[in-house]
Amino acid sequence: MLKEILSGDSCAACRVCCVFDREDSWEMPLISPELAEEIKRETPGVKITRTAGKYGVFEAEYGEDGLAECPMLTEKGCRLGERKPFDCRIWPFRVMRKGNMLLLTLSPVCETVSGLPVSKISQFAAKNADKIFEEARKSPETVKAYIDGYPVFAVREV
Ligand code: SF4
Repeated sequence: MLKEILSGDSCAACRVCCVFDREDSWEMPLISPELAEEIKRETPGVKITRTAGKYGVFEAEYGEDGLAECPMLTEKGCRLGERKPFDCRIWPFRVMRKGNMLLLTLSPVCETVSGLPVSKISQFAAKNADKIFEEARKSPETVKAYIDGYPVFAVREV
């Protein structure tokens, strides 16, 4: 979906969204029970901790630099390919909630997308917002609380 505005080459050269420090550990993707089973089968040793609700999250192993790479990250990119968790498939967009509204926001961490003309980002959001909100409604655990300052590109009722 994001290929329209974010090329695979840009992601491969950056990978910032797949590396976490302790402050942004909330950004780690939520793993559905089905995907967790597949990951455990295919990559024994990867630890997934249950979070609130039915989802899990990778157990972070922080290095001396204070950073933890997602265990699905390889030299060639994400080993999950098209099976990436919802959080990763819509990144750098985030679905957030404020009151009874769902907001499609854009993380400022992705410099590539944040550097695009606003008109291009808005066009993409207008075209894909319904699909993204629909998926978020099916998995409310993936919806984050709104963070002040995140630019909002689409709004719907919960
Ligand atoms: S699951 Fe894949 S895309 Fe998502 S953070 Fe991990 S390596 Fe990156």
